Amino acid sequence: MQPQIVLLKEGTDTSQGKPQLISNINACQSIVDAVRTTLGPRGMDKLIVNSQGKATISNDGATIMKLLDIVHPAAKTLVDIAKSQDAEVGDGTTSVVLLAGEFLKQVKPFVEEGVHPRIVIKAIRKALQLCMEKINEMAVRIEKQSKEEQRALLEKCAATAMSSKLIHQQKDFFSKIVVDAVLSLDELLPLNMIGIKKVAGGSLEESQLVSGVAFKKTFSYAGFEMAPKSYEQCKIALLNIELELKAERDNAEIRVDNVKEYQKIVDAEWQILYNKLAKIHESGANVVLSKLPIGDVATQYFADRNIFCAGRVPEEDLKRTMKACGGAVMTTANDIKSNVLGLCDRFEERQVGGERFNLFQGCPNAKTSTLILRGGAEQFLEETERSLHDAIMIVRRTIKHDSVVAGGGAIEMELSKVLRDYSRTIAGKEQLLIAAIAKGLEVIPRQLCDNAGFDATNILNKLRQKHAQGGQWFGVDITKEDISDNFEQCVWEPSIIKINALTAAAEAACMILSVDETIKSPKAGEPPMAGGGMGMGRGMGRPM
Ligand code: ADP
Ligand code: MG
Repeated sequence: MQPQIVLLKEGTDTSQGKPQLISNINACQSIVDAVRTTLGPRGMDKLIVNSQGKATISNDGATIMKLLDIVHPAAKTLVDIAKSQDAEVGDGTTSVVLLAGEFLKQVKPFVEEGVHPRIVIKAIRKALQLCMEKINEMAVRIEKQSKEEQRALLEKCAATAMSSKLIHQQKDFFSKIVVDAVLSLDELLPLNMIGIKKVAGGSLEESQLVSGVAFKKTFSYAGFEMAPKSYEQCKIALLNIELELKAERDNAEIRVDNVKEYQKIVDAEWQILYNKLAKIHESGANVVLSKLPIGDVATQYFADRNIFCAGRVPEEDLKRTMKACGGAVMTTANDIKSNVLGLCDRFEERQVGGERFNLFQGCPNAKTSTLILRGGAEQFLEETERSLHDAIMIVRRTIKHDSVVAGGGAIEMELSKVLRDYSRTIAGKEQLLIAAIAKGLEVIPRQLCDNAGFDATNILNKLRQKHAQGGQWFGVDITKEDISDNFEQCVWEPSIIKINALTAAAEAACMILSVDETIKSPKAGEPPMAGGGMGMGRGMGRPM
């Protein structure tokens, strides 16, 4: 009898070969179907409820993919590319998933017929290289001639990014705000220097941009209401000190045997606190912000001396205040001098909807700004924040790489044409494969039409004809159910989004094609025979 060779742990699930590859492609297809309808200005949104019952409404590919909680190992790749697109350029997350899925769909028949995946991968790589060359050749560089022109360009890119979102009706309003916010940053354009605060209620147009810092009023004790709520020319002490009585007592165990001793300890605690407060007062600060709690005694002390105070300020807000107003965050009250205080022209506590906000404006180092969003339901505000995040990322990208291409499927149609033309010049299997990828690129305009309820076949035929005649910027016109020159229509997108999306999609497709075996270890703790009686263990030394 042949001895049985045991290679893998019992319960390990393996599948391999062509069927495995096909099944991976099919899994990716179902993911693509989940996000397909969200693409473009007429795309629909998804409502996703998680296991805790929290509902999220979103149009953003990356957010949807994250929330889908996908377990299929190959299909997870698509989630990863959506995430990487989100992190790298911020927009184009639906497009990247759609493109990867469509590339796979188009090459699937070839794989089924037995073309070796390596040949397919080679063709995809070649097609990608051609696309990159073409995008770089076509991208229009907008020379930084004047500030106004740059602004106009940035606003257009922001508007295109937002036109596919829930807030598309307010895109003109928001694109100005977004551009203002980004232009207020310093050279490196750090994203975390734009704060976004949400206040439910009111209308979207009541949203505002504060050049400087704003944050919600923190928890406060009695006595707070007596302190003034607005200052001109204020000096801000930024602290990381607890100004509460009980603090010292909690840190040590003290044994006393008579009341006098105990009284001494209590007095000492008060003394320590009063010393700290006096030092802060002496420094000349009239606004005190602390990351740690400010207790009732301290609040009263400050209020008596016309000092505004706020404890438990979130760290990021404290840091942004420091960036905007100068000064330093102090961890001890001993060396608070006037040179470590931040400065700003105006401080006020203002009512925004149902919330009170602390606003710092006219900051000397203002390299930061805060968007206060207003709007109806919480889900709606969250989606607005995500949409603005996309737009902010796009504006940042455009400032760094100031070349743009036309959106609305125009660039994809042109790339498709280039690939098709190229495929006619070569022989062999590659010809069919490159033509298949060319067809795959058409998914973007086709889906834009489908989502808007247009006749996709008709519009795609018109587009193919226009592009063959040299109309390289023609794309889908969402308003007229027709085609138009999207460069003139100002549907502009930074070329970096398209470059990144195509590269990531091609990489993902290649990766999925290069996998021909999945080996799944049994879950720890699970009995190996969880399937119930099927296929008894191999080589367990059972009696024959
Ligand atoms: P993504 O997550 O990929 O950014 P979107 O839902 O934002 O997906 O849709 C982006 C697509 O919509 C891009 O292909 C873009 O060119 C297209 N698009 C945006 N605005 C317009 C417009 N006004 N007309 C036509 N197409 C547009
Ligand atoms: Mg978008």
